Amino acid sequence: MKAFKPLEDFFIQNKWYYIFGIIWLLIIDAIQLIVPQILRTATNLLQEGKLTFSGILKYGLYIILTGLGIAIGRYFWRNYIIGTSRKLEYHLRKKLFGHLLTLSPNFFHTQKTGDLMAHATNDINAIRHALGMGIIMFVDSIFITILAIVMMIRTTNLRLTIIALFTLPFITIMVRRFGKVIHNRFRTVQEAFSQLTDVTQESFAGIRVIKSFVQEDLVIENFNKVNENNLEKNLKLVKISGVFHPLINFISSISFFIIIIYGGRLVILDIISLGDFIAFNNYLNLLVWPMMAMGWVINLLQRGIASMERINALLEEKPEIVDSDNAIELNSMKGKIEFKNVSFKYPTKENYALEDINFTIEEGQTLAIVGKTGSGKTTIVNLLLRLYDIKEGSILIDDVNIKNIDLKSLRENISYVPQDNFLFSTSIRENIGFAFDEPIDDETMIQSSKLAQVYDNIIAFPNKFETVLGERGVTLSGGQKQRVSIARALAKDSPVLILDDSLSAVDTETEEKILNGLKNIVKRKTTIIISHRISTVKDADHIIVLDEGRIVERGTHESLLELNGLYRYLYEKQLLEEKIS
Ligand code: ADP
Repeated sequence: MKAFKPLEDFFIQNKWYYIFGIIWLLIIDAIQLIVPQILRTATNLLQEGKLTFSGILKYGLYIILTGLGIAIGRYFWRNYIIGTSRKLEYHLRKKLFGHLLTLSPNFFHTQKTGDLMAHATNDINAIRHALGMGIIMFVDSIFITILAIVMMIRTTNLRLTIIALFTLPFITIMVRRFGKVIHNRFRTVQEAFSQLTDVTQESFAGIRVIKSFVQEDLVIENFNKVNENNLEKNLKLVKISGVFHPLINFISSISFFIIIIYGGRLVILDIISLGDFIAFNNYLNLLVWPMMAMGWVINLLQRGIASMERINALLEEKPEIVDSDNAIELNSMKGKIEFKNVSFKYPTKENYALEDINFTIEEGQTLAIVGKTGSGKTTIVNLLLRLYDIKEGSILIDDVNIKNIDLKSLRENISYVPQDNFLFSTSIRENIGFAFDEPIDDETMIQSSKLAQVYDNIIAFPNKFETVLGERGVTLSGGQKQRVSIARALAKDSPVLILDDSLSAVDTETEEKILNGLKNIVKRKTTIIISHRISTVKDADHIIVLDEGRIVERGTHESLLELNGLYRYLYEKQLLEEKIS
């Protein structure tokens, strides 16, 4: 039960719902226990020939009234307890999602999305069942069991009761034995399901690659394998649950067998009345449910605990990058950026992605970083944005170590156009205004999209800025995507602008236009332009050339050409490529 500790706040906040729910539950249980007494009195009167027609009506009415009471009570406990368990599901999902968003990118590199989705659906559902129906069954079965046994003893005698309850411990033993196996099989079902979601998600995400490589059959075969595995694991669970429930039913029916024989004899011998016998059977009948419910409860609780443990493991996952205790807010960042002896390895890698990086960009200057793919260009940006933390060297902004700058204010002061140009499946307006809490104003939106040379494209869509992108919307070309994400960064208007290979998918002519449009903006901002295309970077104040994580050359376009090194080599290669194409 320790597993549910993180939900303590929720329980305290909602304790009255649970208390009212349980009170209603107990009221119904008490009413249920009256019914056999009504039957008992009616049967005894009937047997003695004392029951008149109006008497029958009276007892019939009592039974209807208890039925009505039970129905009303059920309505209330369902609302209080099941309703609260739905709120708990909402609360837990919100907590988990909010927590996952605080985690660093590295966490998402090491966790599969399918697993996370399974946690957010299956596990949270299992917790809801445990803390909704589970609680109801638990309270209900304990209360009914105790009271029914007391009533059985009072109505007949201790001996008959003990004989009737003879099978109870067997049910407990069965429940304990089966519970463990069910728990383990349920876990493998969860794993199989998350594998299934993984494969499905990846197949659709990679649909273009699959189709262009004509690998549909292979993907289907792969999917069939995990689908079969999922079926197999579920069937294994069904098999064990299939034995479990009928077995418990059978064991409880043995009680009835004994009671018919032994209790019937007591009636014949006139030790108990027929009414007592009927009431006793009714109580025994009432006991069958809690006996089975106990099995369910243990099942539900075990599943709930297993799921809660998995969710707790996620909730305990600490964000790798957090604010330091004395972090300061940068309200008006000037934009001087300095890397001092920075070396860095990704947590999952042995080799250095960057080694001994030193450079300074003064406020308002432009630094260009060129180099082959994989040379470490994006890593420099990842470190500046503190998506990863460095252990060797230091990175300073306005002479303050970025580890001492409030994370939110650090990132708010940097406009970033990422290499993958990720856009959300919402309207273009929402995408461009993503940095703002309020809807973006038209002027900023139009101005930034004009600067990014994407205004004309947007206006050509029937819904213009309200055009919805993504799976169920318009698919933009690679170049259009890049320009919308440039517009998104420009709308933010931060003192630092980073373009990470952001012009690679546009033609050189559009590139020229964008760069010209950006000239005035770039003058005001500290800018980092990453590119593998020399044409993009030639006007930068400083250019550094990266190779295998090291700065191998630095200077201006002209001085680098004179060096006759890697920069010149890349430049000439690109000139040649342009001529050929
Ligand atoms: P570039 O931007 O120049 O193409 P990157 O900075 O993306 O290069 O990558 C530099 C090196 O770091 C590469 O070897 C790449 O495989 C590795 N790398 C990049 N991102 C990660 C990551 N998240 N985890 C592990 N290794 C990474």
